[in-house]
Amino acid sequence: MIRIKDLDFEISIRHNEIEESIAAIAEKMNHDYEDKCPLLLAILNGSFIFAADLVRHLTFEHEIQFAKFSSYQGTESTGKVKELIGLNVDILDRDIIIVEDIIDTGKTMSTLLPKLKERGARSIEIATLLMKPEKLMVDLDVKYCAIEIPNDFIVGYGLDYDGLGRQYPDIYTVVDNKK
Ligand code: 5GP
Ligand code: MG
Repeated sequence: MIRIKDLDFEISIRHNEIEESIAAIAEKMNHDYEDKCPLLLAILNGSFIFAADLVRHLTFEHEIQFAKFSSYQGTESTGKVKELIGLNVDILDRDIIIVEDIIDTGKTMSTLLPKLKERGARSIEIATLLMKPEKLMVDLDVKYCAIEIPNDFIVGYGLDYDGLGRQYPDIYTVVDNKK
């Protein structure tokens, strides 16, 4: 059990399970992008650890860039997605793989996808560490999802609660004291 600010969290996904799940999606990606040189677009801040571990499993040539969006305050989505740091490389005719920490409502991804299409990307796929399928509010095709989780707030392995808790190698789920 760990405590961050006002909330208690208990371990829910151990580091070795995370590692194995990442290796499994990397294997699929290695097959699909064998002769390509895609641009990985990692979404800051949450995906920095996932991106670092993922790329070390990839056997195809690729580039990586980082962009930053924000949709969360505390543990609830604000519903508003705004671009904080834009992508300033040419993506015309590039194969893009978005690298995301977690897909919740899907709003961040559905805001980003048309922007990348407008700028002439040849193909766009999503690689996410985590996904909460029950919370998805938009029609989204997620080709590479390492781990599906229930509808609870989590921290660790890059994910934060109000900026804290990103450093944990394992993933922790908030303990609902009302249960
Ligand atoms: P969406 O736009 O899909 O609703 O939300 C995506 C973003 O919300 C993620 O990239 C992540 O930053 C944040 N998010 C969603 N669920 C969680 C969660 O359980 N824990 C944390 N720390 N962030 C989350
Ligand atoms: Mg994120």
